Amino acid sequence: MREFRFSLTDLPDKTEALRQEVRDFLGRELPGYSASKRAASWGGYSAEFSAKMGRQGWVGMTWPKKYGGHERSAFERYVVLEEMLAAGAPVSAHWIADRQSGPLMLRFGTEEQRRRFLPLIAKGECFFSIGMSEPDSGSDLASVRTRAERQGNGWRVNGTKLWTSNAHLNHFMIALLRTRPNDEASKHAGLTQFIVDLKSEGITIRPIKDLSGRKHFNEVVFRDVFVPDEMRVGNEGDGWRQVSSELAFERSGPERYLSAIALLLELISLAGRAPGEMAAVEIGRLVSHLATLRRMSIALAAMLEAGEDPATEAALVKDLGTTYEQEIPEIAQRLFDISPSEAADDEYARTLAYLMQTVPSFSLRGGTREVLRGIIARGLGLR
Ligand SMILES: Cc1cc2nc3c(=O)[nH]c(=O)nc-3n(C[C@H](O)[C@H](O)[C@H](O)COP(=O)(O)OP(=O)(O)OC[C@H]3O[C@@H](n4cnc5c(N)ncnc54)[C@H](O)[C@@H]3O)c2cc1C
Repeated sequence: MREFRFSLTDLPDKTEALRQEVRDFLGRELPGYSASKRAASWGGYSAEFSAKMGRQGWVGMTWPKKYGGHERSAFERYVVLEEMLAAGAPVSAHWIADRQSGPLMLRFGTEEQRRRFLPLIAKGECFFSIGMSEPDSGSDLASVRTRAERQGNGWRVNGTKLWTSNAHLNHFMIALLRTRPNDEASKHAGLTQFIVDLKSEGITIRPIKDLSGRKHFNEVVFRDVFVPDEMRVGNEGDGWRQVSSELAFERSGPERYLSAIALLLELISLAGRAPGEMAAVEIGRLVSHLATLRRMSIALAAMLEAGEDPATEAALVKDLGTTYEQEIPEIAQRLFDISPSEAADDEYARTLAYLMQTVPSFSLRGGTREVLRGIIARGLGLR
């Protein structure tokens, strides 16, 4: 049996100056940002805020300067991410492009794609969606049916993507498309990734309401949409391999254990300096788990920077991290007898209400718990 590879490390001391810089920025930009606003976490969307982050040099931080990046370390990027998440800053607009679309283009894109898109992403002005899931293909991603057929100097796309976060607001989608018919004998063959302009003729974007009535994800229907061949990312047929490596970026970051931090901070402040025994035990446990998850996630940032593929470990961090986040509202309700209500004056009640309705999705987005555990078992050689 193979073992997990976590080489636990602390953030270098020199990142602390950057941390203070980020805190000062957040203090200026989001003064008095309430807990119920912070609760949206990396779901909060503000193109204006993303552009301000771009001006600070905090988007595309690790990318080469020739593509508009800043050649900073993965640890420096980590500090910026955790401060943004702790402050509940509205980072959703650039989050996906910074986390995975940009790195995908750096690894597999053409020089022309890198020069065209990366500087705009790093400025915090160009936003991407993930076009993987479909009506009948979520966990079983290899079964995607949206097809791209050769047409002149490009491709004609037909089909439907589902649950596409922010497609109604973003500029582009990286779509996983079927460029050859499904072959049951080799399910992973015949898939290719494309950059699709979401304003293209033939695309219809319909919002879907979540449990809380909010609209952040969509159904995206393609009818004879033309995508030029220069928007293909990587070789035809390499989509599965590319998506698999992209998912390590998607699953390993601090957003996989900090999405409910606004409520934990409220909990700590309600418990006060002299908490009862139960509050001390429960909050103590939450904080110590947070510290462990953080160290595991930092170890993954280091592996990604070293060019390693920590797919198994990323799946573990996401599974443990989302299980952790999902516990927080339940514990909050157990500790303090305050009814969750988004209409209440009380910030705690509003934050609790929002997160109670949202946390169930944390173990679905980015890969479900069962699927992650399957990946972990396979990675360890158990299946
Ligand atoms: C808030 C949110 C945002 C999202 N944003 C995006 C996005 O931007 N882009 C995008 O492409 N997708 C997005 N998704 C979709 C997400 O990736 C899928 O919901 C997820 O992959 C699960 O797929 P599914 O919904 O089709 O469920 P299914 O695959 O139908 O799964 C249903 C249930 O069956 C279980 N199951 C399935 N297969 C197995 C198996 N082999 N073994 C054991 N159990 C199994 C699952 O664990 C789950 O509990 C988003 C989802 C959410 C909730």
